[in-house]
Amino acid sequence: MEKNSRQLKIKNTLSRKKEVFEPINPPFVGMYVCGPTVYSDVHLGNCRTFISFDVIFRYLKHLGYKVRYVRNITDAGHLESDADSGEDKIAKKAKLEQLEPMEIVQRYTVDFHKVMDQFNVLPPSIEPTATGHIIEQIEMIKKIIENGYAYVVNGSVYFDVEKYAQENDYGELNGRKLEDLIANTRELGGQDEKRGPLDFALWIKAKPEHIMRWPSPWSVGFPGWHLECSAMSTKYLGEKFDIHGGGMDLIPTHHTNEIAQSRACNHTEPVNYWIHTNMLTVNGQKMSKSLGNSFLPHELFTGNHPLLDKGYSPMTVRFFMLQAHYSSTLDFSNDALNSAEKGYHRLMSAIVTLNKLQPSSETSNFNVQELKDKVYEALNDDFNTPIAIAQLFEGIRFINSVADKKATVSEKDLDTLKTLYHSIVFDVFGLKEEILEDNSELINGLMKIIIDIRLKARKNKDWETSDAIRDQLKELGIILKDSIDETTWTIQ
Ligand code: AMP
Ligand code: ZN
Repeated sequence: MEKNSRQLKIKNTLSRKKEVFEPINPPFVGMYVCGPTVYSDVHLGNCRTFISFDVIFRYLKHLGYKVRYVRNITDAGHLESDADSGEDKIAKKAKLEQLEPMEIVQRYTVDFHKVMDQFNVLPPSIEPTATGHIIEQIEMIKKIIENGYAYVVNGSVYFDVEKYAQENDYGELNGRKLEDLIANTRELGGQDEKRGPLDFALWIKAKPEHIMRWPSPWSVGFPGWHLECSAMSTKYLGEKFDIHGGGMDLIPTHHTNEIAQSRACNHTEPVNYWIHTNMLTVNGQKMSKSLGNSFLPHELFTGNHPLLDKGYSPMTVRFFMLQAHYSSTLDFSNDALNSAEKGYHRLMSAIVTLNKLQPSSETSNFNVQELKDKVYEALNDDFNTPIAIAQLFEGIRFINSVADKKATVSEKDLDTLKTLYHSIVFDVFGLKEEILEDNSELINGLMKIIIDIRLKARKNKDWETSDAIRDQLKELGIILKDSIDETTWTIQ
């Protein structure tokens, strides 16, 4: 384990405090994040949430934890309203397009993965679907009924919030009192059947026109949206696990109900650390499909949107998102993206410069160890990426002055700097060098020519040429590795 792991603090939505992170069973960490409902393209707001958790996943792994990261795909049960009314979002889209619901699910799951790839978001360890876990959900409902926290009406099953609230704090995640929650309830889906205004569906009997349906002990129907996450997190991470996350819009209903279901079923607080990301906004308003102010990733990459002056690359957008702390709102504008673009290029060219620096026999004119400590201090302080970036930019001033021969760096400090920038920028922030990516075919072709020329030189025992090629490539940050039957190359 990296020694820095001992200092990691996480702001826990449940306690509203920053707490030292102590996994239940170190070095293993279980993390569950609510994934997308695959009925339409993901917009940039959704991407912000998944990028934020990608950085958290990457940082935990960097610290040496063995993370099992579960991020689900919601492919059934998410109705138009969170209060159990309206149509299933996927079924509605399927009807509209005259397709089988699973065709909708397949199309948008594939698109989602493509977008996550473009943003260099790592795939989770497990990506379970709601429809793949109907049996687990039915079993969970049976237990909740057995434990006395749910009731059956006309083939549907509802969670009894009032009963649950007698022994538990139903509003604990939201910091709200039960009376206030009841007073604020507006919509009442399935009103005639529910006993209390906050009760929510665990199983809904399908109306004849509802096409996504499964048999159960109560009716042919479908599970409530909140249930899938309780059932799948329990299955893959256990009744009690370390981290649960999602966007903060999920706190009042989805996550509050997840806690209630899991506690009612397993008699234990399911999650130790709740992490919630803040919203991506446009002119101060939450980016959302229903408000009509959402940007799709490809509109941003191509610049094909009335509010954009030009297109921005995926890594510029990723960098733009990392410049804000995950728990602050982030407002989307041309100006902010333009300055992120400059920042991203400055960071990338500093790494190219860093790779070419030569160490000096003199001491460094900069405290590299202190820089490293400050970067880790920022990341250990609830994954504070903007402060870590600011520290890395302090270091860039030093890197550039060494390149301009106005400062010196010792061999040990140069090694520390290279490891720091490479591991934080590439492994933890998940940024990558787009120029190389964009030109990879060309670069691969050129490298093959160079390696072939060197191979000929070696065959002719022309060591001078072969060594000169190897050394000059090294100066550019390209390392050649010779094995018995081939020579491969990597970027340092
Ligand atoms: P959905 O597919 O709508 O269930 O959303 C998937 C994830 O994106 C959830 O964790 C939401 O909380 C999150 N989300 C939705 N809108 C935004 C936004 N504007 N900014 C950040 N996250 C969002
Ligand atoms: Zn969920």
